Amino acid sequence: MKLEQNYSLKEHNTFHLQVKARWFMEYENEDELIKILQDEYFQESQSIHIGGGSNLLFLGDYNGVILHSAIRGIKVKEETDTSVTLRIGAAELWDDVVAYAVKNGYSGIENLSLIPGETGAAAIQNIGAYGVEIKDVIESVEAYNQLDIVKRIFSKEECKYGYRSSFFKNEHNDPYIITYVAIRLSKQPSYTLEYGNLKEELSAYDEINLTNIRDAVIAIRKNKLPDPKEQGNAGSFFMNPVVSMTKYNHLKSTFGEFPHYVISDTEVKIPAGWLIEQCGFKGKKHGTVGVYEKQALVLVNLGEATGDEIALAAESIRMAVEQKYGISLVPEVKYVG
Ligand SMILES: Cc1cc2nc3c(=O)[nH]c(=O)nc-3n(C[C@H](O)[C@H](O)[C@H](O)COP(=O)(O)OP(=O)(O)OC[C@H]3O[C@@H](n4cnc5c(N)ncnc54)[C@H](O)[C@@H]3O)c2cc1C
Repeated sequence: MKLEQNYSLKEHNTFHLQVKARWFMEYENEDELIKILQDEYFQESQSIHIGGGSNLLFLGDYNGVILHSAIRGIKVKEETDTSVTLRIGAAELWDDVVAYAVKNGYSGIENLSLIPGETGAAAIQNIGAYGVEIKDVIESVEAYNQLDIVKRIFSKEECKYGYRSSFFKNEHNDPYIITYVAIRLSKQPSYTLEYGNLKEELSAYDEINLTNIRDAVIAIRKNKLPDPKEQGNAGSFFMNPVVSMTKYNHLKSTFGEFPHYVISDTEVKIPAGWLIEQCGFKGKKHGTVGVYEKQALVLVNLGEATGDEIALAAESIRMAVEQKYGISLVPEVKYVG
């Protein structure tokens, strides 16, 4: 177990904000986690569990306990002629899981290549890209209730997945700490290629297989998104808003054709990046904070930005979109502080 006081979180958040935690506690296994949860000091302190910090915005130093898992490992839990179920430690890097699956010929998550962060968080966030969400392969999630310290295994249905949401993200539910995630993958080729420019990118390859799909996704992402190692960012800052069909038709008659994705007879999803671009923010700088020149949905730390400065830039974007379109953008990034 690792216990550190006044611990720098710079390497634990992809905005690379220079913030500190009063305490940083990292556990290697479930027994160590239980010890921490039973500790009186821990129980009296405010705390937050983090993964790789790729979806967090620290507004300042954290005056409490930052918990982090070091439970790793990918094990085959079950195998049939057609599928395999993997049990994965929550701290396993998500992209390492994808690389493992592709290498072994297991399909289902290749479109989720290169998404930063850890597997536990991926199951909380219901990460998604190129027409696939992790919920499509989730079999179960093992988690500890932080209040009564009882372990529960959630079925996929009990995880209550939605767009970038789950039971675990709902603040009205008890806080849970995820220790393991089980996903079921196919041993037969089954690909999702209809989304975005994936098919177009794949036309440069001589055949369509798992390795080439992963390489194509990585190539598209590297071209479109800033690498957090080079420029601090947390990916998409806002979620894509879902509006009613009535609202969409009204917007269309006022502003002309809108990029959109029909979710149902009554609802439409609009790309938040497009709305932000239309408000003139793309590629613009606000002091130490920038709006990425290739994708307006991404805010970047241009150097020494603070969490407050990033939050302020996000708020001015949110207000501009609200004023012009009457659409209220909701941050995908979680504010901590
Ligand atoms: C360049 C870039 C590109 C991205 N692209 C995508 C994308 O295509 N699709 C997408 O969906 N997301 C994307 N993201 C967002 C991000 O990668 C995901 O949200 C990711 O799942 C966050 O993982 P993390 O380990 O960094 O979690 P963190 O940011 O550390 O935490 C996220 C949430 O999970 C909680 N948490 C973490 N671990 C645990 C645990 N073990 N138990 C309980 N709670 C926990 C935290 O409290 C927090 O609420 C991108 C981010 C970046 C920087």
